[in-house]
Amino acid sequence: MKTPEANLTPINSLEDALTRCQDLGMRVSRQRRYILELLWSQEEHLSAREIYDLLNQQGKEIGHTSVYQNLDALSAGSIIECVERSDGRLYGNISDSHSHVNCLDTNQIIDLQIELPKAIIKQIEAETGVTITDYRIDFFGYKNAAKADLGS
Ligand SMILES: [Zn+2]
Repeated sequence: MKTPEANLTPINSLEDALTRCQDLGMRVSRQRRYILELLWSQEEHLSAREIYDLLNQQGKEIGHTSVYQNLDALSAGSIIECVERSDGRLYGNISDSHSHVNCLDTNQIIDLQIELPKAIIKQIEAETGVTITDYRIDFFGYKNAAKADLGS
């Protein structure tokens, strides 16, 4: 598999994702299209098991192995997002850098585009001597305010 080039245009839609597959020389099989269609329609972070279940519930026949192989290939090509969690991997439709709000009570991950103030980036660069080119932030919290109070 070729690694994606930095100058590739961002993926903003299902069509962009399918085009990216072709640009990378990946065959767009029926199963691969099913997975991309599902991720772009759900806009959530799903496990391979959930993707398998949802597709089969929709009457789209796809085997376990095919789901895992396609998710591996799509995330290796940076066409989809892969989140490593202690209880396994989750896959999302947004492949560009973005931040997450992690809900500790619902286990939901909410995608977020957030830009830090330039002063903070400058401060980090001054403290570390590293020129920052990209970042992803993980926020953690509770959807249910009552649970948040327990922690304080
Ligand atoms: Zn995400």
